This record gives sequence, C-alpha cells and structure tokens, in this order.
Amino acid sequence: MKRLTLLGATGSVGASTLDVVARHPDRYRVFALTAHRSAEALIALAARHRPRYAVLSGLAEDATLRRRCAEAAPGTELLFGAEALETVATATDCDAVLGAIVGAAGLAPTIAAVRAGKQVLLANKEVLVMAGPFVMRAAAQSGATLLPIDSEHNAVFQCLPGGRNPGTAALRRIVLTASGGPFRTEPLERLEQVTPAQACAHPNWAMGRKISVDSATMMNKGLEVIEAHWLFDAPPEAIEVLVHPQSIVHSLVEYADGSMLAQLSHPDMRVPIAHALGYPERIVSGARALDLAAVGGLTFERPDLRRFPCLALAYAALREGGTAPAVLNAANETAVEAFLAGRLRFTAIARAIAHALDAVPATPADTLAAVLEADARARRAAADWVARAGAAAA
Ligand code: NAD
Ligand code: MG
Repeated sequence: MKRLTLLGATGSVGASTLDVVARHPDRYRVFALTAHRSAEALIALAARHRPRYAVLSGLAEDATLRRRCAEAAPGTELLFGAEALETVATATDCDAVLGAIVGAAGLAPTIAAVRAGKQVLLANKEVLVMAGPFVMRAAAQSGATLLPIDSEHNAVFQCLPGGRNPGTAALRRIVLTASGGPFRTEPLERLEQVTPAQACAHPNWAMGRKISVDSATMMNKGLEVIEAHWLFDAPPEAIEVLVHPQSIVHSLVEYADGSMLAQLSHPDMRVPIAHALGYPERIVSGARALDLAAVGGLTFERPDLRRFPCLALAYAALREGGTAPAVLNAANETAVEAFLAGRLRFTAIARAIAHALDAVPATPADTLAAVLEADARARRAAADWVARAGAAAA
C-alpha cells in the first residue's frame, strides 16, 4: 500500500490523479490532500478519499471550516497555512508526494519532500525551472526518486533506459513535442487582441488557467526545455522542440544509431500519472485506447519564433544559467497573472519577461536564497513594467 500526499488536489492534475488512485484502492491510500483556498472543494475531496490530513495552505485557522470538515470527513484533520504543506510532504507515514501545485508556491514543499527522501512525482515544472540544481542535488543526497508527470518528460523517461540519459555517445537529442496551442494558425496581427478566455481554450488538453496561457505563448514548452535539461542532464542544444498539433506523440528521443523512440497516447494526463504512480509496474489509467487508424495522420513542424517569442526567451535564460531561469519563471508568473486579470495584452507577456531578464542580471544560483532573491526582484521588475505598459495603453 503506497500512502500518497497530493499537493494541489483541487486542480486539474489533482483531479486526474484522484481518478487514477480511485481505480486502485488495493494499491494506494490517500494520506494528505492540499488546496490553497478552495475549502469547499477540498472538503468534498476529503469526504470522498478520507485522507489523514487535508490542508488549506492559503487560509488561516478557521473553526467553522474545521467543524465542517469533521462532519463531512470524520478521521481527516484539517490543517491551515503554508507550513502545513511541508508537514504533510515530509510525514513519516507518507511514502510518495505528488506535486501538482501551480507555480513557485510548490518550491518549498517539493524540496522538503525531496530532502525527506520521498518518492516525488512532479507535475509542478516551475520548481525545476527555478531551482533545478538544488532539487537534483538534494535527490542525489537523500535517495529520493523523482518521477516526471509532465507528459513530455514522462514520455522521455519512458524512452530512456531506466529513465536516465545514457550519455552523449549514445543519446543524440531529446525532442519535446508541443501542440502549438490555440493560436498556432491565428494571424499574427490578431494576437494582440486575444482574450484570456480564448487563450485558455486549449485545443487538446483541459488544464489550469496558468499553464493554458503558457501553452498559448509556448512559454510552457520553454519551461519544459529547462525542466528536461535538469531531469535528463541534457545540454540546451540537445533539446529540440517540434510542433505536433495532434498531441498524440508526447515526446521522442534520438539515439546515436539513428533510432528514434517515442511514447504515444491520447492527450490524457491520467496516462503519465498512472505511469509514475505504478512505476516500475504498469497499471490501468482509465484512458481510452489509441486507435491510430482513426487518428490517421501525425504531423510535425518547426516552431515559429516570431509567433512564440517566449520559447526563444526560455532557451536564452537556460543558456545564460545561474538565476536567469528563476527570473524568467517569476516574470512569466507575474505577466500571465496580469494578462488573466485583463491588465496586460497577450503579446506584451513576452515583452514583460524580456524586460525582467534585462533588469535583473543573472547571478550564480548557488544558494536557495539567491534563487528566491532573483524571483522576488523579477516579480517587481515585471510588475513595474506591466504598470507602465498598462498606463501607456490607457
Ligand atoms: P490548477 O490551477 O488546475 O491547480 C493548481 C492547484 O494548486 C490547486 O489545487 C490550487 O489550490 C493549488 N494552488 C494554487 N496556488 C497555490 C499556492 N499559492 N499555494 C499552494 N497551493 C496552490 O493547475 P494544474 O493545471 O493542475 O497544474 C498544476 C501544475 O502541473 C502546474 O505546475 C502545471 O504546469 C503542471 N502541469 C499541468 C498539466 C495539466 O494537464 N493540467 C500538465 C502538465 C503539467
Ligand atoms: Mg507538458
């Protein structure tokens, strides 16, 4: 019986995870579920899955909610505040931690889980973008295993022997596929006017709002290039991005002999989640079988960097190194939030990030404090730029 802590249980990845877990009551027991502020949704999940703990990380102690949780889910203790995330991520009664919080907020509990030597199933890519070297080093020191849930990285993991890079003599490159998002064929001059609702209407995947916008700008793929760099120890020039609008091939690896291996499935997050939950065994995910004859054709094209400048910014930040990826990530979180709130145009997201990368010079990322300092400075630089851009547009 694997006892699981699910960080970010009320989100899109959280829901897919609980769907897989509920199919295997003999294998998994939910130890803890967390949400930021969605108290009602969290209590409903607690009533259904009966974890030992439920955590509301963005709320202070609340006696009414505590009582409601006790009535709906007897045996579940409700905890409040961000520190409780680390409590449930490191508890000795928990074997595996699935990180499905969105953004930098997932950093502290993920690092805590890694340091505690847990099996860590990671969807929360921003953690590796900000602090890849720390997470990888901490995992090596504690013996924690890291299993990627992001569909591309899970695909690469499945195509590599033991999930590891066999070395530059054997592995020529990693090819991450991208759907191209909702604006792949939108006339460029119309991009300035697109709305948050249009940006969040992804053609192939139903996801949280932040990652949906990241998919529309292709910053999502940029973050994934950085994620792949740390997970698979591959240099930026060995990580390529191809647009594959059908989202059936989730990524590929190419070996020295010219062989390419790929992982295919319907675009359904339950597939990579079930792979990581069951690893090294294979378990039922609930995803329907792939009928390749019905799919008919699989197409691939190179990304257009004029359409997707965020992808070029991410490669530049990875090449620059140090705290540059943390700056990129923080500025992106700030700009996407402003876009979703109607305070920034879609096409200005990349400009706000480019400004932050210029305004906050990269420093060595040798301490977590340096990374957090760069994150805070980048958020301020991007917010200032957004305020000025907003004033200029008015
Ligand atoms: P979501 O917005 O649907 O859910 C986010 C979850 O995190 C919620 O449970 C929310 O309560 C919690 N949360 C939000 N802000 C928080 C904070 N400040 N502190 C603590 N908890 C907080 O997001 P999602 O689409 O499920 O994505 C989660 C992560 O997984 C992201 O990093 C995303 O990039 C990654 N991911 C998602 C998908 C997908 O299909 N949705 C695929 C690959 C990777
Ligand atoms: Mg992905």
